[in-house]
Amino acid sequence: MKLLEHSETYWNFLGTCTQCDHCMHACSSLTSAQMTLGDIAKGMLEAQRNATSSEELMLNLAANTQLTQAVRGCFFCTSCKNTCFAHNDVCDLIYHARVDFQKIGLVERNSWSSVEVDKEWDIFTAYRAIWGIDHTDLTRHVQTARHEAQNDCEVAFFPGCSLAAYGPELTKEIFDAIEELGGKTTMIDHCCGSPLKSAGFFDRAEALCDKIAAEIASSGAKQLVCVCPGCANAMKSTLVRNGMDVNVVSLPAYLSEHDFEPKRELPDGPVCLSKACQDRDGNYLRATIEMLGLHEETPAIFHGCCGAGGAVNSYQPERVDEQTKSKLDFAKDGSTVITMCPTCTYTYAGYLMNSPRDIVNKHYAELLFENQFDWDLVFAQLSSMWTGEYGPWLAQVFA
Ligand code: SF4
Ligand code: SF4
Repeated sequence: MKLLEHSETYWNFLGTCTQCDHCMHACSSLTSAQMTLGDIAKGMLEAQRNATSSEELMLNLAANTQLTQAVRGCFFCTSCKNTCFAHNDVCDLIYHARVDFQKIGLVERNSWSSVEVDKEWDIFTAYRAIWGIDHTDLTRHVQTARHEAQNDCEVAFFPGCSLAAYGPELTKEIFDAIEELGGKTTMIDHCCGSPLKSAGFFDRAEALCDKIAAEIASSGAKQLVCVCPGCANAMKSTLVRNGMDVNVVSLPAYLSEHDFEPKRELPDGPVCLSKACQDRDGNYLRATIEMLGLHEETPAIFHGCCGAGGAVNSYQPERVDEQTKSKLDFAKDGSTVITMCPTCTYTYAGYLMNSPRDIVNKHYAELLFENQFDWDLVFAQLSSMWTGEYGPWLAQVFA
């Protein structure tokens, strides 16, 4: 009996895994579980084989704490993939295992209730509403009280959920620059669905991206500018799936193509570039180096997850701090750490607030534009919104 929705994925994965163990030694989560990726596929299929009902399957999976560790403890950083001769697709395997975990009731609601980013309220939209952050003037393809829906845009700008919520002035400044350089612009102010995938709602994440694709189509834009490599990846595959001829370009590449002049000098002292996990081919990194004018300085580059990936925070928060620390340990005192993804910048800011170090944490956009993130303000507002007048409402919405 087929109780797992994605048995096929596990069988296919097992067919290419030689059980060489390389992935296990490349990953703290797999080492702690004492499992290879192939063992995850095997564990899922064994739990199914030994069950005659969904309830039995749930009990079998829940009893296998090593398997739970390996599935829930993954950052989706793909470090293991680089050690695998078969180039096995770790994300495909673990995303599907999370979908099966979610379907069978093994992902607790409080770990994802505030990041259902395909609903009206999630942590980002609630933050924006409570603190009066309004981008409706910029979302021109959507009708508002102030303007009609517009379908003659040249460019769509996708800041991503962290930048749009936590850096509203920076978002607006980037929007204005994109428009000045490339023509009429609209803003896509949705999340790319990454938190939904981490929680095991793969179909909902894809449906959200399809909705975004329809909005881009309605705007008329033929170019989509993304700040974060993760959003760009999600939208590239969505646009292909929807047969749309829209060019996805990174913000640094777009700015370079249009001869944008940075509004700031580079910081003094050494710089370290924190490569985003989602920047699989390094294109974002190269474009950022080019736009910042760092190509002749050979900056230090460090890889691996910042700790935010895969919603590990909701399963093993202590591992997130360890991961963040291990990545920041690459940066020498006195240096500036430059991130590609605003969620990495947010994660480092949170860590450095609790464990201060003599390093400066900047998203690459902060080195190009006047406006900056104010992390003291963001974290104070994030914390006080739960205790202030909106606290009971938030508790009810995210219950
Ligand atoms: S993607 Fe990263 S966290 Fe996940 S299994 Fe591979 S190395 Fe471990
Ligand atoms: S590195 Fe690749 S082949 Fe080796 S155990 Fe891991 S998934 Fe299997």
